[in-house]
This record gives sequence, C-alpha cells and structure tokens, in this order.
Amino acid sequence: MRALVYDAIGGPISLKEIKNPDCPDGGAVVEVRATGVCRSDWHAWRGHDPVPLPHVPGHEFAGVVVESDSARFAVGDRVTAPFVNGCGACDYCRSGNAQVCPDQTQPGFTQHGSFAERVVVRAADTNLVHLPDEIDFVGAAALGCRFATAFRALRGGPWETVAVFGCGGVGLSVVMIAVAMGARVIAVDPSPAARAAAVDLGAVVQDPVDVDIAIDAYGSAETALASVRSLRRGGRHVQVGLMLGQDAHAPLPWDLVVARELTVVGSHGMAAADYPPMIDLVASGRLDPRRLVREIVPLAAAGAALTAMDDPIARAGGIVVAINEYSGGRVGPDDAV
Ligand SMILES: [Zn+2]
Ligand SMILES: [Zn+2]
Repeated sequence: MRALVYDAIGGPISLKEIKNPDCPDGGAVVEVRATGVCRSDWHAWRGHDPVPLPHVPGHEFAGVVVESDSARFAVGDRVTAPFVNGCGACDYCRSGNAQVCPDQTQPGFTQHGSFAERVVVRAADTNLVHLPDEIDFVGAAALGCRFATAFRALRGGPWETVAVFGCGGVGLSVVMIAVAMGARVIAVDPSPAARAAAVDLGAVVQDPVDVDIAIDAYGSAETALASVRSLRRGGRHVQVGLMLGQDAHAPLPWDLVVARELTVVGSHGMAAADYPPMIDLVASGRLDPRRLVREIVPLAAAGAALTAMDDPIARAGGIVVAINEYSGGRVGPDDAV
C-alpha cells in the first residue's frame, strides 16, 4: 500500500510503497478514505512526543473496514475511531473509559497511522464507531480527535460562559459545540485568522473574566495559566492541549485553585463508548464538523500540510483533511476533490 513515511525526527515525509498491515486478533483493518492533519502529528514529527521510526503519522481517520476479526464490525462497514484505542479487556475499557486505558494503542503514535491506504485498529469492538450515511468521511475524519475531545471537554454543562484558549481544530470545535449548547463563548488566540474563524462560529473576542469553564485547547504554560486565571469562583479549567517538553512541568496558581475552589481536570479524547450522542447530533445536522474543515488536500500532500505547522500563526484557523485519492471511492456527497 502507499503510505507517507518519515525515517528521522524532523526529516522528509515521503510517499512510499510499504507492506499491507495484517489484521490482529480482535482487530480490524480500515481502508482510509479521509484523515485529518493534526498538531499532535506535528509534535511527534518534531520529536516532542516519541514515536517508533520509521513512522507513518495520522490518527484522525474515517474509512471502510476491509478485514475484520470483530463481532460487531464487518467488511464494508463505514467507521471511524477515537485517537486512543483501548485494549478492550481492562477495567477502564470495560467501564467505558478506554481513553485512559493503561494498555492503549494510538495509530499514528504507538503504531503506523492513517497517512496511508490502510490502518489497523486493535480491539475493534471497543474502538470502532459505525458511521451513519448522513456523515461523510471528511466530516467523520474531523470528528475523531479534535471534535470528540472538545465534546467531552465540555461535559458537566450547560455553561453560561466558556473561554477557549487556542483556536485551532480543537478550540474551534469547542466554540461550535458550546455555542450550540447556548453558551457565551470567548475566544483567545494570537492569530487574527483563528480569531476570525472563532467569531464566524459565534464566539466573541474580549478579555475572559469570571467564566464558568475555561479550556486550554493549545497546551502551553502561558495558556494554562491564563485559562485558570480567567475562571469565576468555583469554575473549571480543562487541560486539553498536550503539555509536552518543558510545559509538562508548568506551574499553576494553586493559591487561586484553593481560595476560589477551582476544579482542574485533564481531558484525553473520548472513548468510542461515548460517541453515540455526538454522532446523533452530527447526523441530525445540529453540529457540523465540516464547517471546521479549512482545506481538503490529497493524501500525497498530507506530509506538506503537516510540516507547514512549523508556522502555527500562518496556518491557523481550521482543520486540514486529506482524502485518499487512491481508494477510488467517493468521500462524501459534497466533495469536489
Ligand atoms: Zn488529532
Ligand atoms: Zn484497556
């Protein structure tokens, strides 16, 4: 199969012929129809998040099952999967919390990912999600990482005021979902394009003060601090953006956390078990992840889209989705590509 491969951290990402993956026991092989290009892929390529080399990036995919050793998923099923795949056997997976499974796998990180014609999903019964016909592959590729993460980060609402720090894919997803829930959403981002995209989705741009819930969708010492400082008494900070390198040890104002009784929580995606309400909202048209897609490119160009994230300001403001031009199948009803 064709895949985009890099042999060295920060090295060229080249289209190569590699061996088709084998279907693991209990798993499935998915023919990738569309795959998102995410800042997490960029972190891995830049060496901030260790991956085995040579490596195929990509973790936000939708496609069709082509091999299956699963009871619930058959060849031909249209599917997507969360970026964290649980083992399917531990207590966390059995209680619906595969997103924190200690034996998790992550296509595009712990194994070859979806910048390829095919990708492997282990424990398919735990990790695959059926896609209704109303959701096309491009929209579904925009769901699996950033949209689902945003959906779950807002749990515990409804919220009156929401602050979002960082308006990339996950931040804009938060904006769209929170606005749909009736919240007043304040967007914070240094990029004018990202702010404009947030405003387009219903956010306002102003200093966030006394908000109910603040979400650091970027992941840095500065944005985490600003997020905690923006909360009202009893408010909730959700850390969604990955804290890597030095930011992993970023200090927080614990005096405020105690005196204001703030809640600080991490959010690591969303398990497949929690997808159905979100899938229903998307299928009904109430939420439309396709609005977050800034650009659709062919799979062969996904590497260039990834390396372009070296300049986060210039490339901000929405999701790039690559479609598998080699599959010969239609990607969605509106695709011009
Ligand atoms: Zn992602
Ligand atoms: Zn598990």
